[in-house]
Amino acid sequence: MNCPLCKGKMLPGKTNLPFTVEGEGNVIVVINVPALVCEQCGDDFVEIDVVRKVENIIDRIERDGISMGLVEYGKAA
Ligand SMILES: [Zn+2]
Repeated sequence: MNCPLCKGKMLPGKTNLPFTVEGEGNVIVVINVPALVCEQCGDDFVEIDVVRKVENIIDRIERDGISMGLVEYGKAA
C-alpha cells in the first residue's frame, strides 16, 4: 500500500503506540508494535488485528494496576 499522506511507499517496520489512561492522565506506551511505515514521511499504519491486540494488552495491564510506563508488544502479546 501507499502512504495516505504523501503517497510514499509503506514498508514493514515498528512503531510505538501511546495510550492515555482514562481519568488518570497517565500514558502507557506500547513499543515495537508491527506496522507499515512510510519511507518518505515516517507516517505509520497499524493493522486492525494488531490494534486489537494492543488494546488487550492495555486492558490487562490496567487491571494489574499499572497506569503508566512502557510495554513491549512482542513480550506482552
Ligand atoms: Zn508518507
